[in-house]
Amino acid sequence: MYNQQQKSIAIISVHGDPAVEIGKEEAGGQNVYVQKVGEALAARGWRVDMFTRASDPQQSQIVQHAPKCRTIRIHAGPEDFITRDNIFTYREDFVGTLLKFQRREGIEYSLVHTNYWISGWVGLQLQEKLSLPMVHTYHSLGAVKYKSVSTIPMVARTRLRVEKACLEKADRVVATSPQEKEHMHKLVSRFGKIAIIPCGTDIHLFGKVNRSEARERLGMEQDAKVVIYVGRFDKRKGIETLVRAVNQSQWREDPRLKVIIGGGSRPGQSDGLERERIEGIVAELGISERTYFPGRIEREDLPLYYAAANVCVVPSHYEPFGLVAIEAMASRTPVVASDVGGLQFTVIDEETGLLVPPQNVAAFAGAIDRILNHPSWGVELGINGRKRVEKKFSWDGVALGLSQLYNKLIQKDDIAATPGLGIMFEVS
Ligand code: UDP
Repeated sequence: MYNQQQKSIAIISVHGDPAVEIGKEEAGGQNVYVQKVGEALAARGWRVDMFTRASDPQQSQIVQHAPKCRTIRIHAGPEDFITRDNIFTYREDFVGTLLKFQRREGIEYSLVHTNYWISGWVGLQLQEKLSLPMVHTYHSLGAVKYKSVSTIPMVARTRLRVEKACLEKADRVVATSPQEKEHMHKLVSRFGKIAIIPCGTDIHLFGKVNRSEARERLGMEQDAKVVIYVGRFDKRKGIETLVRAVNQSQWREDPRLKVIIGGGSRPGQSDGLERERIEGIVAELGISERTYFPGRIEREDLPLYYAAANVCVVPSHYEPFGLVAIEAMASRTPVVASDVGGLQFTVIDEETGLLVPPQNVAAFAGAIDRILNHPSWGVELGINGRKRVEKKFSWDGVALGLSQLYNKLIQKDDIAATPGLGIMFEVS
């Protein structure tokens, strides 16, 4: 009889270290996804090894998250920060060192689950060399991303080629929203098997405190009108749209209006430069005295910040999923988000928040004002958001969906549709 207790899976996240601080440049949703999925799968009885590239000599090679779940940092290229597009150069070293580690430890993996295209390349190698079933999650699609940037990087052709190979050759690709699935078939390849399993969030961490307690603990006035952004400092995140919208708000002259822009940055790096640029715009607009930059918000403080806010704004130009939206919803805070990608799946317009055209300053200002002007409606939107997250986006539910998928692939069964815990789970 098949015994799930003994099944080991290798999760590959070459550039997104699941054991690193979240919220800095290049450390965002993917890191959270890999860490939380790994831990939740281990809690379901899988042995989970999460492989990432060693990027700092100060960090330990192995981080144990739970008895059966660990991060393993693989030596490939300099032990320093390298932008994701440059990491691909060290792909063969990564595969070689990973295989050596696997032989040395005598582990037989049953399946490999890769994250982002660089890891997808690694997964295709492991699929071939070790005859492993491969599951792939894109996190971001080159075909979508390159539509919204002015300069196309050198690595673009390689990325598009690898992304196509992943869709056509992986045993299953996981789309985190129906919108992402549609993009894959439209822009990447007509072929390939796709299962829809969303990203999740920690429903026990978020939503524990109410607004008034959160404000008290953060030292915020109870009558403040708080607009929050949480995320990386990256132009594509649209923070500029948010600050310009605040400047057009009807509450612009009211001293109760406060804006919090939370996220880490490093001076001189691209996120540090973006933060400086945003601070410059804030100063130019004359809203510095009401705008706060708390820096990277620690995981344990995040629930306070979300709960304290009247509205959380996600103004991304594009967003494949957008964890911040469901974290805010889990905290009962209404969301004003760009009407793009995964946000169209997570945020239900007029029910858990408002969806507005990306980069449209007036539309963002109008949506923020509607929520600030109607506090009891805001509370209602927040309650609906919490219900939606509990039903669709818990990590346990996500891990259940993935476990079912892994089992089917390991047993070489195929699936038409497997209902479970409200998780959308379908294959095409
Ligand atoms: N984050 C955090 N502290 C911060 C800023 C961001 O913990 O100061 C986390 C945030 O809570 C979320 C993740 O970073 O879990 C960002 O994920 P998202 O999918 O929204 O965006 P990405 O970074 O993947 O583009």
